[in-house]
Amino acid sequence: MDFKKLSVFLKENGVPAFRLKQVRDAVYKNFVASWDEVAVLPAPLREKLGAKFRVHSVEPLEALVSKKGDAIKFCFELKDGLKIESVLLNLLPEKWSLCLSTQVGCPVRCPFCATGRKGLKRNLSPDEITDQFLAAAHYLKTKRSQKIGSVIFMGMGEPFLNYESVAEAMHTIADPEMIGLGQRHISVSTAGHVPAIRRFAKDFPQCNLAISLHAAEEDLRNDLVPLNRTYPLAQLAKALKDYIFSTKRRVFVEYVLMEGLNNSRTQAARLNAWLRTVAAPKYFVVNIIPYNRTGGPYRAPTRDRVKLFADLLEGMGLEVTVRKSLGEDISGACGQLAGK
Ligand code: SAH
Ligand code: SF4
Repeated sequence: MDFKKLSVFLKENGVPAFRLKQVRDAVYKNFVASWDEVAVLPAPLREKLGAKFRVHSVEPLEALVSKKGDAIKFCFELKDGLKIESVLLNLLPEKWSLCLSTQVGCPVRCPFCATGRKGLKRNLSPDEITDQFLAAAHYLKTKRSQKIGSVIFMGMGEPFLNYESVAEAMHTIADPEMIGLGQRHISVSTAGHVPAIRRFAKDFPQCNLAISLHAAEEDLRNDLVPLNRTYPLAQLAKALKDYIFSTKRRVFVEYVLMEGLNNSRTQAARLNAWLRTVAAPKYFVVNIIPYNRTGGPYRAPTRDRVKLFADLLEGMGLEVTVRKSLGEDISGACGQLAGK
């Protein structure tokens, strides 16, 4: 919802200021999905609001629940009919993490990613980003009496190619007067947009940064993450070094593992060596994501070969996690979001 516009509207209509706070709390703290639910407001005001403002700028079309119940994928329709997806993941008991989309499609076009295959349709507005949260929170509240504990900008799109809108949404999500999720519970995943990493370090030093690396050698990374042609590994290394120096925070390194492409012993050693040019191992958590099928020529390594790669990195002194795939049966896993 465009809260600024709504504030102006209420003022212009002579509605007392305390009503604005009631509306704000209803939308951003109690996660109502319609004005009818806001019983504290007088009926004529609810009607006025209803005629002029929708509570959410994204319209949930469906919510698909994975067999195990640990992943819920939402498909939302936007005002212009385009569709986006967000995924709720139940990583720890009662702890839900929400994966948010920032663009319709993505201009980076990583060849293994379903979102990238479509190219960019358009950027999402700040409201379209925040409202994915509000709609998912409404769902969790009404269906399960549970709450969202963290958000990660890792759905469709490259968040740092829509920096202004993502930043505004992050402020709304973190602002104690609005949603009020702590900055430490907010993470952004980027394919490696160097200027935006520098901006992010200044604007959001308390939030988490994840880098989708996938390869620590120039040629391969040029192919896997085409943004690397604009911001090659040496520039990325320098930006991360400065980021860690100024924020003193750890960086999450995402590495989608694909058989025969980026999972050899040499490549593990290269990854380790590259990270050490940036900072000491204690500043990194390497998150290995076994490739999820998106219909290309790629294959995930076997479970044993995933473990071997992880063990190699651990043997070199790095902290490694292997992402368990939630929601594969609903195509809600990393890289499978295509907004069909
Ligand atoms: N554009 C941002 C954030 C969205 S992509 C980025 O690239 O970081 C979210 C994550 O999903 C990235 O780490 C991406 O590399 C990963 N991903 C994309 N396609 C995938 C696939 N087919 N299997 C597993 N992970 C994939
Ligand atoms: Fe875009 Fe990220 Fe997919 Fe690459 S992996 S195409 S950057 S969404």
